[in-house]
Amino acid sequence: MANRPRVEWQKEANCTGLSIQEKDRVFFPGRGRPYRTSPHEKYCVACPVVKECLEYALVHREEGVWGNTTLDQRKLFPLIQVEILTRRAQTERWLEDHYGMVPSQTQAQPLPEDSTVNPFDFPLFQVVA
Ligand code: SF4
Repeated sequence: MANRPRVEWQKEANCTGLSIQEKDRVFFPGRGRPYRTSPHEKYCVACPVVKECLEYALVHREEGVWGNTTLDQRKLFPLIQVEILTRRAQTERWLEDHYGMVPSQTQAQPLPEDSTVNPFDFPLFQVVA
């Protein structure tokens, strides 16, 4: 099933409704410092949109916790698969143009039939599947 734009899946997220301060505390604890606790797990583990959240963060190089993973964990994800995910995001129209770098839809190349990628197939992420 195709992913949806962020504004759609975020409405169903377990973290929806948290205040900005609470989101900072839970999902951005101590930028640049190691995470000593995992307060995000309370929200992320059973989140109904955890897969879309993780794939969004991988494609958009987000900081903090997304999809029950930290940035350091996501940096271990193979770059080639991030590239495949990014092309899928273009095709499915959930790629956001944060920096004015996204090619227009007419430039987007269609994915080959067999180029599916599921981050949860990658061993690091099986803990959140
Ligand atoms: S997986 Fe975690 S960070 Fe992502 S939407 Fe769900 S609760 Fe929020």
